Amino acid sequence: MAKYKSKQEFKSFVQSLFMVKWNTYAKRPFAGPEQVLEYLGRYTHRVAISNNRIKSIDNGQVCFEYRDRADNNTSKTMTVSAHEFIRRFLLHVLPHNFMKIRYFGFLSHRNKKQAIKLIRKLIDPDAKIPQKTEETYLEMMHRLTGHDLLCCPKCKEGKMTIIKGLPNQFLNSS
Ligand SMILES: [Zn+2]
Repeated sequence: MAKYKSKQEFKSFVQSLFMVKWNTYAKRPFAGPEQVLEYLGRYTHRVAISNNRIKSIDNGQVCFEYRDRADNNTSKTMTVSAHEFIRRFLLHVLPHNFMKIRYFGFLSHRNKKQAIKLIRKLIDPDAKIPQKTEETYLEMMHRLTGHDLLCCPKCKEGKMTIIKGLPNQFLNSS
């Protein structure tokens, strides 16, 4: 809608949504929970397009692979301007404070710290609480995937060095 083109208008519109007492609409999945997990698993922790689907970036044109569902799911390529590509990509980026995945019950963000503490106590008052690991995200990624995130993907020898962080205005639109 035209009135949401103004940043301020849009912001206050979003703000008004936080005032609404939302109800979650949920219904039984047709083909069982496994199907739902399988479907969600493909999207929840992924970016809109994976690097290997981008075939070329030349002269301000991006060529990428996609599957045409209308044509028997055949793999095709499409070329769009870099500007259009970025526009489409950004349609998948959630606004600041929006969550792709929400937890509920004792895992809901607001409750989990207290709730998990209480649950542990109720299960076994003498239980040893596991120590919080002092791992950095780099160490964690290495432990879980065996990949060194700082290793140069080209020569596999050089180490990437962080020179500077991105200023906040690039990270969220608020
Ligand atoms: Zn290198």
